[in-house]
Amino acid sequence: MDKQIDGQLAFDFDQFAREEARDRLDEWSGAPLRFTQDYYPPAAIDEAFDHWVFINGHHGSHARSHMWHRMMWNAGAVEFGDHRGEMFSAELRPEHGQEGPGGLLEQMVCEPCQWHAIDEDENSVVEQWHDHAVPGWRELPVVPASVRVRDGSKMTKLALAWIRERYPEHMQVPGAPIITERQPYGTRHVAGYSPWNGYDLSHTALDCPARLSNGRAIRRDVPPFTPARTASDRDLPGAKSLTS
Ligand SMILES: [Zn+2]
Repeated sequence: MDKQIDGQLAFDFDQFAREEARDRLDEWSGAPLRFTQDYYPPAAIDEAFDHWVFINGHHGSHARSHMWHRMMWNAGAVEFGDHRGEMFSAELRPEHGQEGPGGLLEQMVCEPCQWHAIDEDENSVVEQWHDHAVPGWRELPVVPASVRVRDGSKMTKLALAWIRERYPEHMQVPGAPIITERQPYGTRHVAGYSPWNGYDLSHTALDCPARLSNGRAIRRDVPPFTPARTASDRDLPGAKSLTS
């Protein structure tokens, strides 16, 4: 059997499996195969998106599915104590030539607590997770701009010494963040850039007060979203109620 025939058989099998999955969509009991604001654990989010891609194809899947997915640079988790924060994005921007109210949404999930926060601003969900998981982070010393923090892919000795000397010991633990003074156009919080694999948070985070009440996250209301329907939507269960 030559390679070409092998490839053909593999293709036919995938096609068969895809059609079967499509036929059995009403049996799907995982997270919705569409945009949702409800809480789902990270594994269920991943599984649902993978299933959508399996059925509908990878090309343009973020924009076509409007589902939560991981971005490559944000694929990991930040763990602090019993907390585990994982980041997802959902593409609600209208497709080319169509109108729509959506944007790019970010969600941070803390599975051990069944906690999540959704916002259009990635920095905001990162801050909300720290308010949820890392009490006292807002009192951490800000590394001044005069202390160079990074040299290429690693932290400078100067910054490490500055932080080790000034940060409280209980905050020099795995997953703990640092706060650094940034330039006006470099205020993104960066995962994995603290000496303990936590976030390097921009000092601008301290300009926004904590959005916490009784230890539970307050979600900013995201406007209801009704995407234009595509051929693939018609195959999906619940396509008629796209907001939940
Ligand atoms: Zn948590």
